[in-house]
Amino acid sequence: MDYEYGIIGGGPAGYTAGMLLAKKGHSVILFEKELLGGTCLNKGCIPTKSMLHSSEIYHSVLNSEEIGIKTNILEFDFKKVIEKKDKITEKLRKSLELAVKNSGVKTVYAEACIKDKNTILANGKEYNVSEIIYACGSKPREIKGLEFNHKFILSSDDVLNLKELPKSVLIVGSGAIGIEWARIFSNFGVETTLVEMAEHLIPQADIDISKRIERIFKGKGIKYYLNDSIESINDKKVILKSGTEISPEFILAATGRVPVKPEIKGVSVLGDSCGEIQLAHYAIHQAKEFALGITCDKSLIPAVIYGKPEIAWVGLREQDYTENCKSINIPISALGKSWCDDSTEGFIKIITQNNLIVGAHIISKEASALIHELLIAIQNKLTISDLKKVCFAHPTYSEGIFELLLRT
Ligand SMILES: Cc1cc2nc3c(=O)[nH]c(=O)nc-3n(C[C@H](O)[C@H](O)[C@H](O)COP(=O)(O)OP(=O)(O)OC[C@H]3O[C@@H](n4cnc5c(N)ncnc54)[C@H](O)[C@@H]3O)c2cc1C
Repeated sequence: MDYEYGIIGGGPAGYTAGMLLAKKGHSVILFEKELLGGTCLNKGCIPTKSMLHSSEIYHSVLNSEEIGIKTNILEFDFKKVIEKKDKITEKLRKSLELAVKNSGVKTVYAEACIKDKNTILANGKEYNVSEIIYACGSKPREIKGLEFNHKFILSSDDVLNLKELPKSVLIVGSGAIGIEWARIFSNFGVETTLVEMAEHLIPQADIDISKRIERIFKGKGIKYYLNDSIESINDKKVILKSGTEISPEFILAATGRVPVKPEIKGVSVLGDSCGEIQLAHYAIHQAKEFALGITCDKSLIPAVIYGKPEIAWVGLREQDYTENCKSINIPISALGKSWCDDSTEGFIKIITQNNLIVGAHIISKEASALIHELLIAIQNKLTISDLKKVCFAHPTYSEGIFELLLRT
């Protein structure tokens, strides 16, 4: 055998598994057809958050007078926004390439395919391995009537390559990708409309989160149509099932992602390719489980949607209530820190059952960090009485959890 492990796909699942296995002393070869870091680093988590950050600063500066900052510079250079995004992804990719190299993994930049369960074909060569790990990720889902033409109907990959901002955009789908792009575009002043076929925005979230984001979007002038979808597209005129007519500069179809599956059965599959939970941290956890045997509870994978305010949740939702479930909620405006930060929008909600927390749903500044405090409590079955003994620092958003516990 040339190598013990042959990994196809250099995204979070593939590179994490590779580095962990190599550190344990195994010989590993990794095949990547594009860029190390996969969707997460090059087309997903990182570049979108960089653009979101730029858009938030622009939006804050535009609205800074009420906090005592006057500026008459109201220009922005979209090229620089793109340059900054490209610079940080390149910097992070270089660090990753070095870390992978230093771990002892051999990387081959080529498209690979599986010949049989011990042979990988790439660059016209055969590589014999004891075990194949398939981690080829996922790709944007195309739905009937909304096939990508990369000019008027764009995927989440296409929008990252925009050279200029549009005047208006129609986003189809209100999952994490649709919501984050709606926020980026609207912060930059683009007329933004969302269409969602479910009854509420972010249909996978707790109902109170969905209703709150709908209220926030209304306040921000982001239009949305629920229980609706595209009926027809004629030239650039879009007609929804409800009869509404919209003429956006383009459509972003954010209608989910389909897993890329291996050609044969009997190989280990990690990350988005599994078609389970399509999140980078789940891909990384699966790799840890594979290489180190550290398991995780699939019902406790946190979800985060970025922007102002952040949204995060884990565990049971209001819609999943079982016996003895109760929910308690505290508005973020009850916290002094939120007033100092001009971030009073949102709430922390927990769902309890028999003196345990079984679900947490947060919409607030710092929700992406706060959710882990509750996740640790849920996963370790810390009782509400245990948690009440924790001293939370003041003024913080975390003390909202303490306030909430006092209300149980
Ligand atoms: C716009 C957007 C925003 C996102 N934001 C977040 C976020 O904030 N948080 C979060 O947790 N998740 C986010 N995600 C999801 C996250 O990017 C994925 O869940 C994660 O990248 C999955 O990791 P993976 O290793 O399974 O696959 P990928 O990251 O897709 O990596 C697969 C790799 O395999 C390579 N490959 C495919 N076929 C072959 C082949 N035949 N030969 C060689 N190489 C091959 C690909 O080039 C790719 O590099 C986002 C996704 C998108 C699209």
